[in-house]
Amino acid sequence: MRSILKKMRIILLGPPGVGKGTLADSLSKKLNATKISTGDIFRDAAQQGTELGKKAKEFMGKGLLVPDEIVIGIVKERLKKEDCKKGFILDGFPRTMAQAEALDKAAKIDIVLNLKSRDNIIVERVSSRRVCTKCQAGYNIISLKSKKEGICDKCHGKLIQREDDKPETVKKRLETYKKETKPLIKYYEEKKLLRNLNAEQLIEKVFQEAIKASS
Ligand SMILES: [Zn+2]
Repeated sequence: MRSILKKMRIILLGPPGVGKGTLADSLSKKLNATKISTGDIFRDAAQQGTELGKKAKEFMGKGLLVPDEIVIGIVKERLKKEDCKKGFILDGFPRTMAQAEALDKAAKIDIVLNLKSRDNIIVERVSSRRVCTKCQAGYNIISLKSKKEGICDKCHGKLIQREDDKPETVKKRLETYKKETKPLIKYYEEKKLLRNLNAEQLIEKVFQEAIKASS
């Protein structure tokens, strides 16, 4: 069982709504590697009040994108922590070429898993999500239905579709993602680190493929 013992440093690439977060969770357990999601570490850095955290918070507070140098700084700080020595899974980073090049200088990467799915499948998957207006519980009109249509099982609140989950919004985010990551995919392909995974399968199947690719 070499794959479990070997320390793995993984990047997860994939469009919003493809199931990166879920895969990152399962992989981090299986490979005993630390999951690093940029959303989480930004929140942590801001809470801990580090210099970079404070700067990032300023940008986010104004609704602006956090500049590369700050993002890179925060990720680098995170990678220095003890729990990354056993391997890590990066979810949401790098997003740009500048970030990828900076990461190269900061850490060795073993593999880049690229989750692929056709746009219409993602749009369908994301736009079937519903959320409770009262308790925020999540539902899905295909795979996780509430007992009574449009009503939360837990608190009887009204279920709605979030603005972010509407088909037009999802399509826009997919376009942005493609433009952003195209150069990254080429970059890791040339380094022979890229492995494509079919994310249209059941999550267990995607997970098995990912484990195979990482060993
Ligand atoms: Zn509810």
